[in-house]
Amino acid sequence: MRVTGTIDLLPSQMRLYNKICETFFAICKLYGYEEVATPILEDIRVFDRNLGLETDVVSKEMFFLEKKQDETLVLRPENTAGVMRLCQEGGLFQKLPQRLAYYGPMFRYERPQKGRYRQFHQFGVECIGVASYMADVENIQMAVHFMQEIGLAELTELEIHTLGSESERDAYKQALHDYLLPYKNELSENSVRRFDKNILRVLDSKNVHDQKILETAPVMRNFLQMESAKYFDNILESLENFGISYTVNPFLVRGLDYYNQTVFEIKTPALGAQSAVLGGGRYDGLAQQFGEKTPTPSIGWAAGMERLFLLAQEHQTLSVPPRKNIVIIAMTEAFDQEAQKYASLLRKEGIACLTVHEGTLRKRMKIASRLEAKYTIIFAPKEMENKTAILRDMMRSEERILPLADLIITVKKHYDT
Ligand code: AMP
Repeated sequence: MRVTGTIDLLPSQMRLYNKICETFFAICKLYGYEEVATPILEDIRVFDRNLGLETDVVSKEMFFLEKKQDETLVLRPENTAGVMRLCQEGGLFQKLPQRLAYYGPMFRYERPQKGRYRQFHQFGVECIGVASYMADVENIQMAVHFMQEIGLAELTELEIHTLGSESERDAYKQALHDYLLPYKNELSENSVRRFDKNILRVLDSKNVHDQKILETAPVMRNFLQMESAKYFDNILESLENFGISYTVNPFLVRGLDYYNQTVFEIKTPALGAQSAVLGGGRYDGLAQQFGEKTPTPSIGWAAGMERLFLLAQEHQTLSVPPRKNIVIIAMTEAFDQEAQKYASLLRKEGIACLTVHEGTLRKRMKIASRLEAKYTIIFAPKEMENKTAILRDMMRSEERILPLADLIITVKKHYDT
């Protein structure tokens, strides 16, 4: 039995899945991002303090693996912290800026539902060492471009907000605390817990009554000093100039503690409760947790593969090219060797080829259709006697008889048409 909160992918699904992967890496290439890989296994210290001890990810959702004296291993719940560790250990902080991308499985012990799994996959990009607001703009532009390329632009929308600097955020947290205190008894259980431990997360409450209380709560915008306000306004203005539509969502707070200034999410109304397909933001202070002496301005995002996949599958936003196999059918065992020989010759030409050995011709033709054959080549006794074979164009349902000597060249000529 499949483990709760995990999914299998059938071959046809895997093709769509791989298409999304290919699109992601093509976008990375266009924006100059290079792929890195970190292990799935990390020391808990990579995450616990850096993501925030009171965040759901650290306090409730981490998968622990093994304890050995002072080493506690976990399955990574996200990869920005892992990439920071990689930069530090690989000497990349000495060669800034870095534009890095990754893709791989993440693990969170969450209550599974549609679009929320315990093993899921993230695409992520991190632009490390660029302080200009243009890094934010380009990073967001890249995210939107990715959505467009996988056909999800119409189904998703960008939300953006700023968390300001640490001191601005502290002043805001205090104001939010003072505002919410008289309502504390009315807040949902979850929000009361967040009120005590991580007050900004109350803004994220899905509870209707909490949301009503929050309607007149102070907003971060009023706590920004000149510099942060200008930074945010520059980003918004540039997004407009680039024709990227957005909504400023004053309740947008990200689940992890390391963010400052810009935060953003791409959401969809089409997936039920799990509306976020991509999330990101600035994390200028994180590199210091990994040994850097000064803040290292950085911004990045991560997108959830399974949610993108579900959307692309349900709404058929991405066409996957047919497999275009060539299928060779040897009608008697005596032609099996010949069939294999021609299959090898076609493969040498870079053409995908399979042989089908058993069953009636009808059954074998059915298999060829299922294999999405572009052509089927039939080695039948009468034709073979004359050193010919039947070439069937599966799309057009047309057949012709070809000399064996012309077989490879003919298939090659028409394969890409
Ligand atoms: P986060 O690291 O929480 O900001 O998540 C970034 C993206 O990863 C989200 O927008 C989702 O698309 C995806 N994601 C996060 N958690 C899960 C999960 N448990 N299952 C599936 N996708 C997830």
